[in-house]
Amino acid sequence: MEVKCKLCRCKGKLCNSHAIPDSLFKAIFRDNSGKAIKLSSLDDKPIEYSQDSWATEQLCEACEKKLNKNYELYSLKALSGKNVDFTRLDDGVLFESIDTQKIRDFIVAILWRASISESPNYKAIELSNKLNESIRLSLNISSSVSKRKILVRGFKLIDTAEGGFTRENLRNFISSPFLRNYSVDEGKSSKVVCLVFLGYLFEIFINSYPKDNSYRHEFIGLDKKKYKFKFQEITINCGHPNVELSNIN
Ligand SMILES: [Zn+2]
Repeated sequence: MEVKCKLCRCKGKLCNSHAIPDSLFKAIFRDNSGKAIKLSSLDDKPIEYSQDSWATEQLCEACEKKLNKNYELYSLKALSGKNVDFTRLDDGVLFESIDTQKIRDFIVAILWRASISESPNYKAIELSNKLNESIRLSLNISSSVSKRKILVRGFKLIDTAEGGFTRENLRNFISSPFLRNYSVDEGKSSKVVCLVFLGYLFEIFINSYPKDNSYRHEFIGLDKKKYKFKFQEITINCGHPNVELSNIN
């Protein structure tokens, strides 16, 4: 059936598209005999296995290839520490020569694809039509979405609890995107979208901007080459972003 691609809007045959990259699901299925464990927030629910990689028909083949080539290939390699130098510090992992803008664009592309996805695993993510359209226009011409619209922070997940998750376990963990509240200007609160994959947590702030320059290093892409992913204990539910942001709606 000929339908419109959601990125270029041309009519054509659509691919089964992924927001969080298919290769990450494949790695999990490969390590677990074709199955992923599905966690439930209900304590008494038994463990379920899943082969779902959260794909829906979204993009034509050309656009699918374009996003893979522009963002995914580089970012997944860099975040896995392949072909890039990084230093493991006491409080995080420091990359000093990566294309931070590309990694930020990669996260923005996942956000957009999750927002327009019909997969129930992405139902928490619904951006305004205006923001979706603005991201679409940028992705379509391979340019970056304004930092006044979207800011991205990243953390490297660790688990120091005895008998806790190993680094390998954490790399093989994907969570459905979820939302957290954070407070911006007095009395106002806003949402932050959280993505977990490849052993990282990414926090995406919508329509907010740091109140002053001292927070610049917190966000991916503001320094073009350097970024420190601070460690974040996976078991601690951090409800506070520790940065001061202004809402610019
Ligand atoms: Zn297309």
